[in-house]
Amino acid sequence: MTTEHTTAATRSTVYGYPRQGQNRELKKAVEGYWKGRVTADALRATAAGLRRDTWRQLSEAGIDEVPTGDFSYYDHVLDTSVMVGAVPDRHREAVAADPLDGYFAMARGTQDAAPLEMTKWFDTNYHYLVPELGPDTVFAANSAKQVAELDEAVALGLTARPVLVGPVTYLLLAKPAPGVAADFEPLTLLDRLLPVYAEVLADLRAAGAEWVQLDEPALVQDRTPADLDAVARAYTQLGGLADRPGLLVASYFDRLGDALPVLARTPIDGLALDFTDAAAANLDDLAAAGGLPGRRLVAGVVDGRNIWINDYEKSLATLTTLLGLAGRVDVATSCSLLHVPLDTAAEEEIDPEILRWLAFARQKTAEVATLARGLAEGTDAIAAEIAANRADLTSRADSPVTYDPAVQARADAVTDADGRRSQPYEVRAAAQRAHLGLPLLPTTTVGSFPQTDELRAARADLRTGRTDSAGYDERIRKEIAEVISYQERTGIDVLVHGEPERNDMVQYFAERLSGYLATRHGWVQSYGTRYVRPPVLAGDISRPEPMTVGWTTYAQSLTDRPVKGMLTGPVTMLAWSFVRDDQPLGDTARQVALALRDEVDDLESAGISVIQVDEPALRETLPLRAAGRPAYLAWATEAFRLSTSGVRPDTQIHTHMCYAEFGDIVQAIDDLDADVISLEAARSHMQVAHELADHGYPREAGPGVYDIHSPRVPSVRETASLLRTGLAAIPSERLWVNPDCGLKTRGWPETRASLENLVAAARTVRDELSAH
Ligand code: GLN
Ligand code: ZN
Repeated sequence: MTTEHTTAATRSTVYGYPRQGQNRELKKAVEGYWKGRVTADALRATAAGLRRDTWRQLSEAGIDEVPTGDFSYYDHVLDTSVMVGAVPDRHREAVAADPLDGYFAMARGTQDAAPLEMTKWFDTNYHYLVPELGPDTVFAANSAKQVAELDEAVALGLTARPVLVGPVTYLLLAKPAPGVAADFEPLTLLDRLLPVYAEVLADLRAAGAEWVQLDEPALVQDRTPADLDAVARAYTQLGGLADRPGLLVASYFDRLGDALPVLARTPIDGLALDFTDAAAANLDDLAAAGGLPGRRLVAGVVDGRNIWINDYEKSLATLTTLLGLAGRVDVATSCSLLHVPLDTAAEEEIDPEILRWLAFARQKTAEVATLARGLAEGTDAIAAEIAANRADLTSRADSPVTYDPAVQARADAVTDADGRRSQPYEVRAAAQRAHLGLPLLPTTTVGSFPQTDELRAARADLRTGRTDSAGYDERIRKEIAEVISYQERTGIDVLVHGEPERNDMVQYFAERLSGYLATRHGWVQSYGTRYVRPPVLAGDISRPEPMTVGWTTYAQSLTDRPVKGMLTGPVTMLAWSFVRDDQPLGDTARQVALALRDEVDDLESAGISVIQVDEPALRETLPLRAAGRPAYLAWATEAFRLSTSGVRPDTQIHTHMCYAEFGDIVQAIDDLDADVISLEAARSHMQVAHELADHGYPREAGPGVYDIHSPRVPSVRETASLLRTGLAAIPSERLWVNPDCGLKTRGWPETRASLENLVAAARTVRDELSAH
């Protein structure tokens, strides 16, 4: 394919870049500042150096227009709250005394002032700080950070485009401030917020910005007519300003849908759309809206949130189609590169044959620049790159790492019956009661016990060779023995081994499954200074040998009480990994489910009668638009059932999820057909128990009675009172007693005290029940 078309104006750009630096310098500097080891000036200098390195890197890669203002010490939504003056009252004094310390106080809280709530950024694993607004919120423009970072980039001689969270998305992400009525809608503040944005835009214009990008990812979710009216009002007003830069409104993560024609009718100057497979409908929607004649279209053809190389020929075909639909077409990543690691060059341990299939942030910027060149100068100008790209794609498609015929054949042979327990719940429940002999209101925990520094040090010693694996195993066995004996002494009914051998609940399994790759430096920001290294689900998945059976049976050998086996479920394995993009997610989930099914069956054969398959991510990967949800929930629940349905009726399957808002998926939770579910509930006063009851949930449930997110020890009285609340919704034969989540982040002293109180509370309420 040769494109004759030459569009000299085509530019390449990205919307944001990883902030941390190659060696997580930002994490070290920020945490050093918190501990008083790094001065504010040194922190600022480190940050400025990182921004400079990023811009240089982008410009050397051939990116024509670099983003500014996307950098953050903690979170860009928090930065937006500062930019519009939405500082909660409880933090005002701290911010006035010292803006930097006040900023971190909002992010992390202080002795007297709680932090802002944190929640997931759309369907990614990045967390933002939720703005708190109310009818009395007074906005005030503070463009200092945006202007300063633009100045820095301009001083390097670069063409720069400031990136802001757009006003509609900002308000849609906010929640009512403490004390404000729960039904307050922050979007009602739009008319008050727009003048602040107008002021920031004018400041950026004065500082030399030709263009400003306003990110409106909230518009890729289902929006009401009132929301769309707000969009029309916002951009009609901002577009009508006399003194302003060009306005580029950006969307990503899904199709823009109904908001596309609404935005196209406003006087904005450009639109950025996601054209990866997930949002392919944007192409038709754009054509249907009559395109953007005379205006700028930024085409996100390079996936900004996954780690596979681009398919150049496919992207060029899309770009060529788009040429007819806008005054000018620029090439970009689909979203900020915040969601991918920095550079594949650091991965010296990955086979070079596999490494060529992967593109991290640095490689993606080169892809964008190459595609822009191909679009501007014709495909002949990048013929060598296209040939190399085709060879890399072929290498991946043909590799035995990608494709294992035995795995595919097994997945193809799955029948509906494989995903159904052999007996209905009532029969299973009776068999389990007879087999396990548990008391009323059985007590258990969610899996992990405190991960002490000593355990982490033992793992580090194993990695560096200071301990051999025999020494490490010995250390883990000792920990398991202590955890078992502690639980027996405390009087817990269903024990766990405590998960001391797990670095992370996904990584542990990824390291033991064929088809998964681990990275050494593939850090991605999760929140603030916390970074994670998601494994790469690269090919067909199989389980070469048992992964947990040894530790679990060792724990069971130490006690007569049942020990619960502990696995991470298929949906969570996908949600916290980079997933393959060459087959439907449901197919990948099914392969992971079959591997886990083997583990579940082996645990049962080894004498384990209770097995928990955790799915804390079931809700977070729910598609952003309602239309996509039924299909997702169908494959997600099928995968869970496939992994758990191979067992006997008297083997009890548990699952666990940790969030309080699960109204949208209560039917899916029911469809998992787990015998017992534990859920987070302590903070919401057992609200989930009532939601389950309203739904008519027929099986056993343990709404958490101990909030493990805080070091606070709940008393026997308050725990018993939560249990009584639970009993009002769930009958005593079906109510379990457990904490909200695993205990790995807690210390031993508060864990001990809290679990002792939990057992005492269960006994108190059991006595009350038998007295009736
Ligand atoms: N079993 C895991 C644990 O206890 C569950 C963790 C989670 O839900 N995120 O640590
Ligand atoms: Zn949990």
